[in-house]
Amino acid sequence: MPPPRHPQHYRLRLPGPVAVPTRVLQATAVPVLNHRGPEFRAIVAAVEQRIRPVIGTENPVLFFASSGTGVMEASLVNIGSPGEFVLVCVNGQFGARFSAIARSLGIKVEELEFEWGTAIRADVLAERLCGREYRAVVVVHNESSTGVTANIEAIGRVVRETNALLIVDSVSGLGGIPMRQDEWSVDILVSASQKALMCPPGLALASLSTKALKVIQRNDRFSRFYWDFRKALVSIDSHETPFTAPVSLMAGLLESLQIIHEEGLHAVFARHNKLAMAFRRGAVALGFTLYGQADSLSPTVVALRVPAQINGGDIVRRLYTHHHTIIAGSRNKLEGQVIRVGTMGDFDLNDVLTDLSYLEETVQQLGVRVNRGSAVTAALSFPEEKEN
Ligand SMILES: *Cc1c(COP(=O)(O)O)cnc(C)c1O
Repeated sequence: MPPPRHPQHYRLRLPGPVAVPTRVLQATAVPVLNHRGPEFRAIVAAVEQRIRPVIGTENPVLFFASSGTGVMEASLVNIGSPGEFVLVCVNGQFGARFSAIARSLGIKVEELEFEWGTAIRADVLAERLCGREYRAVVVVHNESSTGVTANIEAIGRVVRETNALLIVDSVSGLGGIPMRQDEWSVDILVSASQKALMCPPGLALASLSTKALKVIQRNDRFSRFYWDFRKALVSIDSHETPFTAPVSLMAGLLESLQIIHEEGLHAVFARHNKLAMAFRRGAVALGFTLYGQADSLSPTVVALRVPAQINGGDIVRRLYTHHHTIIAGSRNKLEGQVIRVGTMGDFDLNDVLTDLSYLEETVQQLGVRVNRGSAVTAALSFPEEKEN
């Protein structure tokens, strides 16, 4: 059997992994370097320097060959111990995953639940923390299952008054939406390469505050080996990782950070926001409703409730078979009702307009009455143009 070939037209529009810029792909397609040599150490040092402003930190940043879930687990394995309590804020699937990881480790988990699609409320969290001791509070920065962001600044103000560490999963946020780890008092920030950082999957990172370092250095934690942050901290002092680093992906990440800084962080965040809003306007013109709390909609993941008479799964399938366009449905309690599109990675306004015109054709074929061209027109009616 011949090996499968890469399809010619293939539009990866998922909330991760995302389409990767050609420059980044090219940066990964170079001869593999010695992971202990000066050339690779220079790449690690440059990545550290360029990622710090994206994370908003002066902390050590650790890199691992892993998907995002690996560093979610690592963050807990390095600070928890059996019998300790961790409070996980759950307003979607990734919060629920964090809580499942903690339970699997034997950590005592309490969940602070918020209705899916709503944002985590700092005031409710503050009340919950009153008089209770937790080893950590876990929050997802950008809940990719619902397309809702968390106000980490407000949450950080609450958690920093306690002994608990604040663990934040910004796997689908970092690089696309602001993160100020030090200002916002985030103790462990975890992320991964394949979302707004615009790289192929397989590289994950964790950034640690001084408050987190103190807990990590203690000896009463779980046994751990590959995930031991203490080992990684020693190695990163000489710009290395304890075990073989994904050297090609690190080179790719350096290039994507280069692209981000050439555009300017502020401009990058503004672009994600503007294009996500354009996508939403277009989808609303087709009869979709916005899923998620209006003041907390994500700039990197657009979640849409499908018109009542159709099934989200049919939209996903048709976009793939007819247009080689890959978006996500929902594999949880929102299955069939909510579709999700990534507005991050290698994408621009043309991609949004193409997505919308395919989406328009698709819902029409599924029996929704639409005026052809209405989605693209709505997407292009930028608010600033209306003011003129
Ligand atoms: C994608 C994602 C993850 C990690 O998923 P992996 O498949 O393990 O990389 C974690 N949290 C959020 C919010 C995500 O979007």
